[in-house]
Amino acid sequence: MSTAIVVGGGIGGTAAALALVGRGWSVQVLERVPEVEAVGSGISLWSNALRALDALGVGDAVRAHGMAEVSAGVRDERGRWLSRTDVTTLRERFGAPVVIHRARLLDILRAALPEGVVRTGISVREATVDGRVLHSAGTSCADLVVGADGIRSVVRRAVCGDVAPRYAGYTAWRAVIDLDEPLTEFGETWGRGRRFGMAPLADGRVYCFAVYNAPEHAPGSLADVGELFAGWHHPIPALLAAADPHAVLHNDIYDLPALSTFTAGRIALLGDAAHAMTPNLGQGGCQALEDAVILGNSVGEPNGLAEYDRRRRPRAQMIARRSARIGTIAQLSTPTAVALRDTAMRLTPASAQLRAMATVLDWTC
Ligand SMILES: Cc1cc2nc3c(=O)[nH]c(=O)nc-3n(C[C@H](O)[C@H](O)[C@H](O)COP(=O)(O)OP(=O)(O)OC[C@H]3O[C@@H](n4cnc5c(N)ncnc54)[C@H](O)[C@@H]3O)c2cc1C
Repeated sequence: MSTAIVVGGGIGGTAAALALVGRGWSVQVLERVPEVEAVGSGISLWSNALRALDALGVGDAVRAHGMAEVSAGVRDERGRWLSRTDVTTLRERFGAPVVIHRARLLDILRAALPEGVVRTGISVREATVDGRVLHSAGTSCADLVVGADGIRSVVRRAVCGDVAPRYAGYTAWRAVIDLDEPLTEFGETWGRGRRFGMAPLADGRVYCFAVYNAPEHAPGSLADVGELFAGWHHPIPALLAAADPHAVLHNDIYDLPALSTFTAGRIALLGDAAHAMTPNLGQGGCQALEDAVILGNSVGEPNGLAEYDRRRRPRAQMIARRSARIGTIAQLSTPTAVALRDTAMRLTPASAQLRAMATVLDWTC
């Protein structure tokens, strides 16, 4: 039986383990964190990711956490629409997206794996192209090592040396909030160098995020964020006021420069370890799920890892570039640039917006 060690038990690593187990491989996932943390945030899964989850056998379990009807679009600070998404056509053409708590998604993926596949509390120090993995509990060997250990991957070093993540120039706060009134809108609000997003979760809570331009590692508190968004339209100040400072996530936003390969010897990189991208398209996790399915499909073929690289690298890197461009536009801060941007958005028809999404959302395995 072929063997694999997956380094990292996040969305990408767990999905890769599921894909490989489905192909009859014996798999161990090594995850450094002892337990999945329930704090923090939701994740939007678009139709491409839901098709990947279908291929992994858990699409319907995830869809059960989707919202039946929401409106969507982008507003300005005062709440006036800059663009509205044609949700009916989006659902008919591509399938409805799902916003789900990350911990719930990981639960679903992990529950689909056989008992004992995921070993938590094990930190990997190094991997080598001959399939050895040095970790806090010893050394393991396998036919395949999957580097799914995130943007600061240690496995990546064996594939392409040290590659430093690039700071995007903005920072993000995320929270999951109990709000008294129901929210039925999945949208963003764009201001000058600041952005706020919100989406209802199926359990009635609201996932929201605040993004603003800032120097790398700038200190800040939830109260500071509240001040930055004071005066923005309802329910933004109410959401920030209701956030629990102990349960918010704060991350500076980075991406990776385009790698020249995702594979070397017995190693394949996947998810953020391979192509960490800015979150502006909500596609980092979705791309990790696509990677997992294609890796599972490729390993049975001759030159399987070369095939994986050929099928995944151009697409993931194209989406990463697009996501970075959208971030540049969304974070514009000078009044003239913002006025031009907002006018262009008001004039762009919803059909053009959907056409632009097609290359990302139309993916099938
Ligand atoms: C603000 C923000 C919003 C986002 N929103 C979305 C969204 O709406 N939709 C979407 O699709 N994506 C979104 N993303 C991107 C998404 O979160 C990532 O692309 C996705 O989590 C990547 O999954 P991964 O498994 O590759 O990496 P990670 O989630 O980083 O998981 C890596 C795992 O490896 C473990 N690990 C790391 N190093 C080691 C080691 N040395 N030994 C053992 N284990 C190790 C970590 O503990 C972790 O569990 C967002 C990102 C951010 C920052």
